Amino acid sequence: MSAVPDLSAHTPMMQQYLALKAGYPETLVFYRMGDFYELFYDDAEKAARLLDITLTRRGMSAGEPVVMAGVPFHSVEGYLARLIRCGESVAICEQVGEVGATKGPVERKVIRVVTPGTLTDSELLHEKSEAVLLAVHQGPRHRLGLAWLSVTQGALHLAECDGDELADWIVRVAPSELLHSADVTPAFRDRLQLLRGSTPLAQRPGFQFDTGLGQRKLLEQMRSASLAAWGADELPCAHAAAGALLAYAEHTQGRALSHVQQLQVVRDGERIELPPATRRNLELVQTLRGEDSPTLFSLLDTCMTGMGSRMLKSWLLEPLRDRSVPTQRLEAIGGLREGLFQKLRNELKGVSDVERITARIALRQVRPRELVGLRWALAKAQQLSMLVEGLPGLLATTARDLQPPPGCAERLIHTLREDPSALVRDGGVIATGHDAELDELRAIQDNCDGFLLELEARERARSGIGNLRVQYNKVHGFYIEVSQGQLEKVPDDYKRRQTLKNAERFITPELKAFEDKALSAQERALAREKWLYEQLLDALQEHVPALARLARALAGTDALCALAERSLTLDWCRPQFMKEPGIEITQGRHPVVEARLAETSAGAFIPNDTRLGPKQRMQVITGPNMGGKSTYMRQVALICLLAAMGSYVPAQACRLGPLDAIHTRIGAADDLANAQSTFMLEMTEAAQILHSATAQSLVLMDEIGRGTSTFDGLALASGIAAHLHDRTQAFTLFATHYFELTEFPAKHHCAVNVHVGATESGADIVFLHEIQPGPASRSYGIQVARLAGMPTGVVNHARHALAALEKHQEQSREQVDLFAPPPAADVPAPSKAEAALAALDPDALSPRDALDALYQLKKLV
Ligand code: ADP
Repeated sequence: MSAVPDLSAHTPMMQQYLALKAGYPETLVFYRMGDFYELFYDDAEKAARLLDITLTRRGMSAGEPVVMAGVPFHSVEGYLARLIRCGESVAICEQVGEVGATKGPVERKVIRVVTPGTLTDSELLHEKSEAVLLAVHQGPRHRLGLAWLSVTQGALHLAECDGDELADWIVRVAPSELLHSADVTPAFRDRLQLLRGSTPLAQRPGFQFDTGLGQRKLLEQMRSASLAAWGADELPCAHAAAGALLAYAEHTQGRALSHVQQLQVVRDGERIELPPATRRNLELVQTLRGEDSPTLFSLLDTCMTGMGSRMLKSWLLEPLRDRSVPTQRLEAIGGLREGLFQKLRNELKGVSDVERITARIALRQVRPRELVGLRWALAKAQQLSMLVEGLPGLLATTARDLQPPPGCAERLIHTLREDPSALVRDGGVIATGHDAELDELRAIQDNCDGFLLELEARERARSGIGNLRVQYNKVHGFYIEVSQGQLEKVPDDYKRRQTLKNAERFITPELKAFEDKALSAQERALAREKWLYEQLLDALQEHVPALARLARALAGTDALCALAERSLTLDWCRPQFMKEPGIEITQGRHPVVEARLAETSAGAFIPNDTRLGPKQRMQVITGPNMGGKSTYMRQVALICLLAAMGSYVPAQACRLGPLDAIHTRIGAADDLANAQSTFMLEMTEAAQILHSATAQSLVLMDEIGRGTSTFDGLALASGIAAHLHDRTQAFTLFATHYFELTEFPAKHHCAVNVHVGATESGADIVFLHEIQPGPASRSYGIQVARLAGMPTGVVNHARHALAALEKHQEQSREQVDLFAPPPAADVPAPSKAEAALAALDPDALSPRDALDALYQLKKLV
């Protein structure tokens, strides 16, 4: 610990600031002063740079001018959002004491810390995605503990993994902020730096990452005596991470997180693995260029609420191997398709984000208008519940969870005005008739006008001053104004309050008494409203678990309705799950490419069948570039994934066996610019697939080997294909431009050749986009080049060169057998001397012959 610096040379206010700032060295401190949040010194310089606000120097403290920058409090959200996007955290320091209650500056306190991973303000959060905080604990023997939480969702997740799996987990959890202990090894710190990408890191003291402490915190959080009910009792590393995670989240919110009541252990083997490359290559939630659309998610997401969108996204990215949940969803969608989904969607339109509002109730940050939104949402939930009542399966549970907690809506209706002000401190939030004392205080204010008119009339009569006026302003309060010409008529009990050019302003004992009463009534009414609002928050706490359930039910209903709507609009079919391994798709389509073609009127999408099973595990796909190979492969993966999340699929019929992972190795076209490192990346990704794929995995290999010379590439591609076929036995779609690989199925009986069809029309080529049996007949490269606008001279030259090459190949009949097993280690052929020696039979030789043989042998060496 460093020594406490001597602050005595500073002004009292800067002393207060610096003492507070010492507790938040890494965080920008927003220090409330009147209508502004001010930042000082280094914080001010940083904020001025990041927010493009003016840096000023004012006054002096400790002999130096004070460097400061400020933002108006009423527009603080916008500034916070920008800082959070830059990965900064902000401590909000408010005035908490009474003005003038103590000598020196008003008491101030940091009431919460806004960090990228613990956001709760609806203004700062993306409507369709969560802010997730992830803590990583470095345990013994390369074991890592992970704990993550979205504060607004209230679900805590635990997992343990080995060190080399961390990269995948970080991609999967997609944290907005990553916590680690100050005591990790330098090597691990470097690794985190590398893996985090642009995610901000937050370092916490080592003692907070402690298994015992974590277990106690978890038990407290779940209000339980054992973690066994969640299957979470034997995860020491994850417990350590969870302890630090909860401590940090509480520290940022300034209170315990009573709404965090869900605990989930995420284990390998429960989900269908979607490694980072797969998410990227299949463009699930982001295009290869990093845009949000068009992606599979952007196509699926027609949800009416942000909650629904977030749930749908989690279904898509976290598909389960167990089929019971997707089966239930498919059944529910089947029921909703009958027409009910439209009614439900009408009700869901405009429903507030109950999930986030519930979290904000628990954190006591909820605003009056959000509660009014909740009140409407509860009424909608009640109606939705009646609409799904009586339906079987998943929807029956949904109907139950959609029932608003008894008394909750009524309390909101009785307590709040229908159109309250944005902030409690402005008043006008609590409904009339809810509290007699508040009503009385408000009545005093309301009666003001009547009283003042009556007083004015009385004073005019008493003084005989016809134009005397009783008025009010904020600075001087109530006064009686008399113009210059009438001053001699002013009664004795008038006391001068203010002199103007043409008039004087007075106060009387009666008016002063009224002023005290009116002003204090206003203040007291505001205080009373604040207190009543706190009472309301207290009362709502008991409903938090039921509201969280209701939010999930709303989100789930919304997501199911969106899937039902999509299935009808896009003409999708219900997939069947089967126990036997296999992927059988009849007339499958790529949903995103199909939608794009429809939008641009670029023609119809050509559907294709896929048959993979134990006897036919691999398709070697050949054909011209632009023929539709990648589209076909991706469509198979997308259909499998959609089925696994419980959605209908773009096909006429579909039967799927068990699946444990979808692996993809697909080179992005732009990678070619950087061939050297691209090849390394290509091989690294391919190696990972060979290590982790199993007989229940789907593997897409597109143009493997393209990043190196032809022979290298071809040799590697054939080696990889053989490994996938013989050892891994995964379901594999293997697209290649190496025509030689069409020989592969001849020697590998679970592989077949297919090709994308194309026909020539004159000198042009027409892609049929149809998957046909057998290898492609020839390379269409030259025609494609011609279509791409290659100069005619080059195209002609290439035609001649191709003809010459083909002729040459026909003449040299000798073909390399790529798929022959590698020869045994070479045994060199015997030399002539050795052969002659071997042919000798010493017993049959006369001495003379032996001498001759010796001379012969000597000549041979
Ligand atoms: P390849 O991988 O063989 O080079 P792609 O799969 O990238 O070819 O397809 C090229 C283009 O052809 C796609 O962008 C799409 O517009 C069109 N396409 C592909 N498959 C189909 C299909 N089945 N029906 C209609 N158009 C298709």
